[in-house]
Amino acid sequence: MQGVFVEIGSVPSSSFARGLVRTNGQGEIAVNCRNETGRPGIFATGDVTDSPAKQIIAAAGDGCKAALSAYEYLIAD
Ligand SMILES: Cc1cc2nc3c(=O)[nH]c(=O)nc-3n(C[C@H](O)[C@H](O)[C@H](O)COP(=O)(O)OP(=O)(O)OC[C@H]3O[C@@H](n4cnc5c(N)ncnc54)[C@H](O)[C@@H]3O)c2cc1C
Repeated sequence: MQGVFVEIGSVPSSSFARGLVRTNGQGEIAVNCRNETGRPGIFATGDVTDSPAKQIIAAAGDGCKAALSAYEYLIAD
């Protein structure tokens, strides 16, 4: 018996960010628990990050955290 298993969604679309922020060996953007990339003012969230949970609810939560971090960044003097 033969078959083909088609896998999608396993390669992060991060090429635009390479050289701008740090990525790991899989091309995922490295973030801390505040979704900061390490470059001030740039945040990342969801499947493109090195977060291990690649699920919708995790991406939505990460998006909320990144938005809060961006807010804190913008109001800081
Ligand atoms: C086949 C499959 C089945 C899945 N099933 C489930 C499931 O049942 N339950 C679940 O919780 N999760 C599931 N997931 C995972 C879920 O889809 C992801 O965790 C979630 O969509 C991540 O959201 P995101 O916003 O990070 O990325 P995405 O939803 O991938 O959104 C990223 C968006 O950015 C756009 N984009 C990319 N590059 C650029 C660029 N350079 N400029 C502008 N826009 C760009 C893309 O076109 C896309 O619209 C599944 C994933 C796959 C692939």
